[in-house]
Amino acid sequence: MEVLYGAVAASLLLGFLGFCYVLASSKKEAKGKVEGNARSAAVIDGSVDGRPRSEDDGATDVIVVGAGVAGAAIAYVLGKDGHRVHVIERDLSEPDRIVGELLQPGGYLKLIELGLQDCVEEIDAQRVLGYALFKDGRNTKVSYPLEEFSSDVSGRSFHNGRFIQRMREKAASLPNVQLEQGTVTSLLEENGTVKGVVYKVKGGVESKACAPLTIVCDGCFSNLRKSLCHPNVDVPSYFVGLVLKNCELPYPNHGHVILANPSPILFYPISSTEVRCLVDVPGPKVPSITNGEMTNYLKTVVAPQVPPQLYDAFISAIDSGSIRTMPNKSMPASPYPTPGALLMGDAFNMRHPLTGGGMTVALSDIVVLRNLLKPLHDLNDSSSLCKYLESFYTLRKPVASTINTLAGAYTRFSVHHLMKLEMRCGMPVLITSALEGCSQMVQWLCCQDSIPAH
Ligand SMILES: Cc1cc2nc3c(=O)[nH]c(=O)nc-3n(C[C@H](O)[C@H](O)[C@H](O)COP(=O)(O)OP(=O)(O)OC[C@H]3O[C@@H](n4cnc5c(N)ncnc54)[C@H](O)[C@@H]3O)c2cc1C
Repeated sequence: MEVLYGAVAASLLLGFLGFCYVLASSKKEAKGKVEGNARSAAVIDGSVDGRPRSEDDGATDVIVVGAGVAGAAIAYVLGKDGHRVHVIERDLSEPDRIVGELLQPGGYLKLIELGLQDCVEEIDAQRVLGYALFKDGRNTKVSYPLEEFSSDVSGRSFHNGRFIQRMREKAASLPNVQLEQGTVTSLLEENGTVKGVVYKVKGGVESKACAPLTIVCDGCFSNLRKSLCHPNVDVPSYFVGLVLKNCELPYPNHGHVILANPSPILFYPISSTEVRCLVDVPGPKVPSITNGEMTNYLKTVVAPQVPPQLYDAFISAIDSGSIRTMPNKSMPASPYPTPGALLMGDAFNMRHPLTGGGMTVALSDIVVLRNLLKPLHDLNDSSSLCKYLESFYTLRKPVASTINTLAGAYTRFSVHHLMKLEMRCGMPVLITSALEGCSQMVQWLCCQDSIPAH
């Protein structure tokens, strides 16, 4: 068991150090790039200049499928760069989910680069300054190394739906970006080139949209990625989500990681009055909510390991009956470069969310893509564009591979592997070191030649 704790601690600390890496690599870029981008919210109504959009009016440069973190951000930046963007999103009402609630500081720096940092304002977002680690009644705090950044730079945690809605409004505020509610059912292909999409709008009416480039950002349950990549999806565990009310976190403005048995428990604020709890449940399925197994599991296995300050609020959250679950998926990026189409966000690449890196990778990828597309005004030559965009997969690696590899430590460290590591590096010492300031961890990291690409 000590070895498993070591694995989780290693993963978390590796993740933490990964974000330090993203921060470090962003330092130069961040300076002087904060621009005031506050705009009034535009109405999201699926119309262009007040008229309904017609089927393929030939006036679109880029179709974006899905307006989550990735789709909304891409739509905004490509619109800002002068492209005519048509976003098709299945549900334009405010999402209510337990995903994407903690944006790491590296992700916030990417938001700044994209001119979207005001999307974390006016949503009661909370600043996150680091992590607190708990195990067996002991705890310690590890702060993000933010000294060299301007004072607004930190992590942010929030209701995912509020953040997404701000991003959608910001994208839709541009005259050349149109958000439409509709469900994309398939890609339109002609001789191996994607020409656009088929989608259904309200009432089941089918429509088509065409553009030289279609960017598919339909998330972790993507139906469309199968023709654009090899979707090798692994589900090592589930997160069970609860919202705690009327409680104070032991370390305000910090994520809390409880190194529990059999798996970690996370707590972090999502507003000034609410704390999100995510319980990692390893294995292919979770206890049933409907027959009471879940309540029993949470009360008997998890609750005794919750810090005393949060115990009553944790029990009240279970008793409120509002228990949500989500599969924790991981999927390496393995696209089939296809003329006319690109995958982005979770549809393209996923990693275990324990270290909260998904939005940072998505936003970092968008910075890379935006920089590549910036000099291009005409996207019509799909084959040349596809060839040109191959460099995207190389350029994204410094950030994406680092975060993926570090998050992957959670799933890749088998007990056997850890025993070998234990002999080599003193892994059981690791958790003690974590609780005492992670100096051993850094030393161990220094032993590595490199972090393998993923
Ligand atoms: C439990 C859990 C917790 C997580 N916590 C964090 C965290 O704290 N921090 C972090 O950085 N990351 C976290 N992640 C990862 C993060 O949520 C994702 O990386 C991020 O949401 C990916 O954004 P996306 O835009 O690709 O997908 P999504 O945000 O899922 O957006 C996809 C969009 O596409 C739309 N859509 C889907 N199908 C269609 C269709 N056919 N037609 C039209 N529209 C469609 C959907 O309605 C949705 O709006 C977590 C993930 C999980 C599972």
